[in-house]
Amino acid sequence: MKQKHSFKIAIMGGTFDPIHLGHLKAAELARKEMDLHKVIFVTAYCPPHKSADEISPAEHRFAMVDLAVKDYPYFESSRIEMEQTCPCYAGDTIKALQKQYGEEWQIYFITGLDALLTILNWEKAKTYPGLCHFIGAARPGYKKEMLEGNIPEDYLPYITILEEPSLAISSTEIRRYLLNNQSIDEMVPRAVRDYIYQYDLYKDG
Ligand code: ATP
Ligand code: MG
Repeated sequence: MKQKHSFKIAIMGGTFDPIHLGHLKAAELARKEMDLHKVIFVTAYCPPHKSADEISPAEHRFAMVDLAVKDYPYFESSRIEMEQTCPCYAGDTIKALQKQYGEEWQIYFITGLDALLTILNWEKAKTYPGLCHFIGAARPGYKKEMLEGNIPEDYLPYITILEEPSLAISSTEIRRYLLNNQSIDEMVPRAVRDYIYQYDLYKDG
């Protein structure tokens, strides 16, 4: 990695439908492990791999991210993908943030291994080596070993996998719990739970 950078900033990108404690814990583990100065949560307006009718309106998802990061001094929420033309690719967001912050900042990208395998196989990903350093979090069903053979080898020097396990929580599971009127108190910050109830989200699957 080049030595010209003085600061480290990480992007945590996601659909966040809704954001949960798994996202927040992965970001916090990454921050500690890599001495990050800042983590920016970027809510995807139109994720390339999900269709608009299967996800909640972006403003709701963004509002919940905003509420969730308030308790974490090193975390911020960004609207950078909220007004982009669709689809938004991680590489474009990384380039835009690099431009905004300048060359003093080294860009990292925090992601679960499930998403990492997808991101690195997208067409546009051919330009990613050198753009940023990936920090991967293992999730149930996805282990470090799965990278070998499943992504181009030239990405490997640009990936660090977190040793400490992240939480076994997913937004899919939360939406399912809500449909069944089960409590999600253990899975999301209180402010996010209150927002979901206030706007009656995830009632119809
Ligand atoms: P869904 O079930 O709807 O796909 P999700 O829980 O996977 O939701 P996303 O918004 O799709 O959440 O994920 C955003 C990013 O956070 C991805 O890189 C994903 O791999 C990562 N991530 C999600 N949940 C966890 C978790 N529990 N631990 C670590 N990383 C996670
Ligand atoms: Mg996901």
